Amino acid sequence: MLETICDIMVDAYKRNWITSRDGNVSIRHHDRDHFYITPSGVRKQTLQPDQFKKIKIVSSLMWREEFYSDISSNLKPSGELPLHFGLQKNMGQHSNDVRVVVHVHPTYCIAAMHAGIDLSTISNAFPELNRYTRVAPNVGDVPPISQELADQCHKMLQLDNYGNIAYDIVGIKGHGVVAIDTSPWRAYEHIERLEHICKIVLASGNYK
Ligand SMILES: [Zn+2]
Repeated sequence: MLETICDIMVDAYKRNWITSRDGNVSIRHHDRDHFYITPSGVRKQTLQPDQFKKIKIVSSLMWREEFYSDISSNLKPSGELPLHFGLQKNMGQHSNDVRVVVHVHPTYCIAAMHAGIDLSTISNAFPELNRYTRVAPNVGDVPPISQELADQCHKMLQLDNYGNIAYDIVGIKGHGVVAIDTSPWRAYEHIERLEHICKIVLASGNYK
């Protein structure tokens, strides 16, 4: 699945959902005590599976980098590691499966939040969104790559001690979105659906 993650990041780049070095993804299999995360500062158009960082879950408060490949040994994990660690240390409803966490910067989701729209409120009017994707209330202004960003995202997703989450996607004002599901493309589809509806809402001008 690391190759699939590379594919979705190339696709996200082509859609202008990230600039070259933005965005990050993590993936954990339920029967492993580690997860993989994209490295920091690498161009996502040329992301390769052997560049991923392997992160061992030592305890609910601690992680440790482990050797995965010679290439990745020279790289650092994404600065959003606290966000991913919190969502990967316990897998909640994905405990018998795989959990993938995708963070990108989709244009219309960010524009909608900038226009004052709480993304959780727009899904009611759009069945194609709310049938498949549960949208959390927005996270407000928080600094990127901070523990505060991680904590606020976890809070809005209603992450509990077992790793259960009440939503599939959350927006961070002035920044981006975080989507979670059992495969890279499934997480990606939550973003795609929300982005499409945000584009429609903004085009309609029917919001305040
Ligand atoms: Zn970001």
